[in-house]
Amino acid sequence: MADLRSDTVTHPTEAMYEALRAAPLGDDVFGDDPTVNALEEEAAALLGKEAAIFTPTGTMANSIAIAVSTRPGDEMILMEDSHIFLYEAGGSARLWGVHARPLPAASGVLTPEAVRAVIRADDPHHPRTRLVCLENTHNMQGGRVVPTEAIEAVAEVCRSEGLHLHLDGARLFHAAVALGVPPAEVARPVDTVSACFSKGLSCPAGSILAGSASAITEARRVRKVLGGGMRQVGILAAPARVALQRGIDRLREDHLRCSRLAEGLRPLAGATLNPDPPQSNILFVRFEGLDGAGHESLVEKLGERGVRALTAGHRGIRLVTHRQIADGDVERTIEAFHALRAE
Ligand SMILES: *Cc1c(COP(=O)(O)O)cnc(C)c1O
Repeated sequence: MADLRSDTVTHPTEAMYEALRAAPLGDDVFGDDPTVNALEEEAAALLGKEAAIFTPTGTMANSIAIAVSTRPGDEMILMEDSHIFLYEAGGSARLWGVHARPLPAASGVLTPEAVRAVIRADDPHHPRTRLVCLENTHNMQGGRVVPTEAIEAVAEVCRSEGLHLHLDGARLFHAAVALGVPPAEVARPVDTVSACFSKGLSCPAGSILAGSASAITEARRVRKVLGGGMRQVGILAAPARVALQRGIDRLREDHLRCSRLAEGLRPLAGATLNPDPPQSNILFVRFEGLDGAGHESLVEKLGERGVRALTAGHRGIRLVTHRQIADGDVERTIEAFHALRAE
């Protein structure tokens, strides 16, 4: 099977298995796991922040970022098609009492004007605006890469208005590779940043939240609240260290394969690609005349031909390239689409 459902389906590399076998371990809740400590230091340096904390998931890293920058009743501004708004089970409201102000963001990022326009006046009728969240790469806009200047423009508003800026960087390393800049440059304008080791980097689990030393100190308490304090978790930190050392440059290959996939699908009758051309490792393809059920049925038939994909509502079908998608899988996927659309 060519599994293009997500870049989370990858298995650890041999080097990761070797590293986790050899990793020195300790109880990380006591701060005693040398492998976790090394990972947190390396990740903080790579992201250009003072400190970092390892978390089981990206969702938890984002949730902690919201908790450390708000009080109950505060408002956060974010994109209506962001992961935090759509796919984190309403955690900000359920856990932290934080009110969400979702805005459209056609170019994958909020504009400084859009943010400024909804910042609340100091008035007892209003919640306090405290936090802005951005995302890079932008998952539901097909892995769109947001230029650092666009994030910097929002950061300027946040600084002048005293707002915290968080970047959901689940695929931040993809953005860095696509922009041709170090990860720290992608994260430079923001106060806190999350990134996933389990997205494209082949780790079985694990994410990181980086920010100021004081934010990360508080994050340790919040992680405990969420039940995210783990013990000999060097077992997971060891593969993550391998991912940071060896996995980032390789993402370029996934981007090239995604471009090749787009090239093969573009000529299909009625096909609209988004984005076109792809900017990283995610591609949506939608067919004119097919509704949700039509796309669903196409995905089912792809499955019979050894290609797994996901439907994505009005966005059509989502295809994601990753370490376990080789050139041959891309060609097979293109052939399957052509065969099915000719039926
Ligand atoms: C996957 C993802 C997350 C959450 O990561 P999990 O590890 O699955 O909790 C957050 N943000 C974006 C943009 C993602 O794609």
